[in-house]
Amino acid sequence: KAKDYSGNQYQLFSDDIGERSIEQIKLENDLFKALQHGGEFELYYQPKFDVRSDDLVGIETLIRWNHPEFGLLSPARFIPLAEETGLITALGEWVIKESCRQMKEWYDKGCTDLVVSANLSPQQFQQSDLAAKVAGILEKTGLPPQLLELELTENLIVNNTDQTLKTIRELKDLGVQISIDDFGTGYSSLGYLKDFPVDTLKIDKSFIDDMTTNANNAAIIKTIITLADSLNLNVIAEGVESREQADLLARHGCYWIQGYLYSRPLPVRPFEERYVPSHSKRS
Ligand code: C2E
Ligand code: MG
Ligand code: MG
Ligand code: MG
Repeated sequence: KAKDYSGNQYQLFSDDIGERSIEQIKLENDLFKALQHGGEFELYYQPKFDVRSDDLVGIETLIRWNHPEFGLLSPARFIPLAEETGLITALGEWVIKESCRQMKEWYDKGCTDLVVSANLSPQQFQQSDLAAKVAGILEKTGLPPQLLELELTENLIVNNTDQTLKTIRELKDLGVQISIDDFGTGYSSLGYLKDFPVDTLKIDKSFIDDMTTNANNAAIIKTIITLADSLNLNVIAEGVESREQADLLARHGCYWIQGYLYSRPLPVRPFEERYVPSHSKRS
């Protein structure tokens, strides 16, 4: 898709270049090349835990880019760029593929009930053949569909209802799980929750950050947990950094958490060493 900064083609020759720094333009080019050549993108893995048992319940994959000159880049540096340029389609497909391939490897090593979650960008959802692509990936990797979860943001759901609903239904028909990421930060009314067959609400980190000192955020969290409960949805909190937060969440009925308290996102080897203990022993 073409870049759309203001809809004004003249800007290409004036402030457009000014606004898009040389570095941005270079990054765009590099992104394109990296996608063609492969090998520069890497998934980090962040575990999700049940605070009642400290059991590992799932894994979120988070992309990084090992840029040859700039080093390890976080998604904030290049996902927006990938979205603007349309490269997100190819990049996002790689993420789903690699998530499924890696999870199947761990599945074969005994992690048979771990769900792997991949983040999806709004643009990926505008592809009418997304579900077909996901079906193809599941078939090729052999990962059971119920062990794949896709994390979507609320804004995506509000912005393009028809195609989104169709795609979510197709994904659900495959057996894939759907989670609403950064829940509570979108502009949405909650009405969509009754129409969209989602499985999980993921409470945004911004509510967790000061939940122990800010009564309003604590109240919002309680409300989200109650909402999830009455709609029969799973609920998980992201960005949990302290024991106090985890305890308070559990007291309100949110038992699944993800955050630095338990673990940062890890590269594949350290993740395996810590969380796939059977990987060297069993088969
Ligand atoms: P997200 O999906 O909401 O992911 C959570 C972000 O919070 C991750 O940042 C994670 O490293 C960070 N995080 C987790 N626990 C804690 C904590 O306890 N404290 C703090 N301070 N941070 C924590 P990351 O990896 O930089 O990713 C940022 C965002 O980039 C993600 O937010 C997601 O929206 C996007 N993203 C990451 N990977 C992908 C991808 O493969 N595809 C797409 N489309 N987007 C991605
Ligand atoms: Mg996420
Ligand atoms: Mg999130
Ligand atoms: Mg977030």
